[in-house]
Amino acid sequence: MNLKRIGVIGAGVMGVGVAQALVQTGHNVVLVDIRDDILDQAKGQIYQNIRLSRLFNRPQENNKTPEQLIAQICFTTDYQQLHDVDFVVENSTEKWAIKKEIYPQLDAICPPDTVFAANTSCISITRIGSVTRRPDKIVGMHFMNPVPMKPTVEVIRGYHTSEATLATAKEFLAGMNKDGIVVNDSPGFVSNRVLMLTINEAAFLLHEGVSNAQDVDDIFKKCFGHKMGPLETADLIGLDTILYSIEVLHDSFADSKYRPCPLLQKMVDAGLYGRKSGVGFYTY
Ligand code: NAD
Repeated sequence: MNLKRIGVIGAGVMGVGVAQALVQTGHNVVLVDIRDDILDQAKGQIYQNIRLSRLFNRPQENNKTPEQLIAQICFTTDYQQLHDVDFVVENSTEKWAIKKEIYPQLDAICPPDTVFAANTSCISITRIGSVTRRPDKIVGMHFMNPVPMKPTVEVIRGYHTSEATLATAKEFLAGMNKDGIVVNDSPGFVSNRVLMLTINEAAFLLHEGVSNAQDVDDIFKKCFGHKMGPLETADLIGLDTILYSIEVLHDSFADSKYRPCPLLQKMVDAGLYGRKSGVGFYTY
């Protein structure tokens, strides 16, 4: 299957990482966001990240320069540019109200055989499929952050996702030098059903004054041997994305164990999003 021209929706933390990883593995990308200033910022970030990855001697597609790799990305606010893409990775904000408007547009514009991969943290893939006329061609593709450095992806089979779509998804991932682990659809899947609860509970420990951020993280790192603690992981992901994800879990399961920590809500209201805004549980 020809999977070389890829639509990437959303140019935030994940869209930037997916677009970078794609051009570094020989793909052409149409990167769509809602504003030109967001796309300009994304272009600068991808350029810097490609330069950095060269310093660390990671293999580059045909030894191309950062300028040549950037030229493989069409930065646009125009969804019509997706009319001929072979595959789509959707990375828009973790809100159903936003995603449910995007998929019908993709459905109307993209070729009928194009598979749409939703890089969502928690939203049900079956639900996403329900707003398209191609639910068999919708698959969950939960990339890990930072995308170019993480070799394994959680792949989610929605209720209607076909075996052919799963095979295409795996072929697409192989083309990015990545592997997939397939799970069945359920809000939060495997990874974030556990991780979001852990992060939310770690925020409660701060909220209740049981400990401070550094000590919470050190207990995970120094006692358990984890590479990162839950609060620095939260800053890397983005506290807004964490809050929206825990809200999705709370709504989906109607279970109070997923109630968002008030401190998390307050930090997001105050614009403290973690690394991407410069301040979260830590200052960058
Ligand atoms: P982000 O807030 O950094 O970026 C989201 C981007 O989507 C923004 O640039 C926003 O302008 C854009 N957007 C909003 N509406 C749009 C529309 N109609 N069309 C096109 N673009 C639109 O968020 P993120 O961290 O990149 O997360 C994106 C998705 O990936 C979310 O669903 C999130 O749950 C998921 N995800 C995030 C992580 C992580 O570590 N941050 C990991 C895996 C999956």
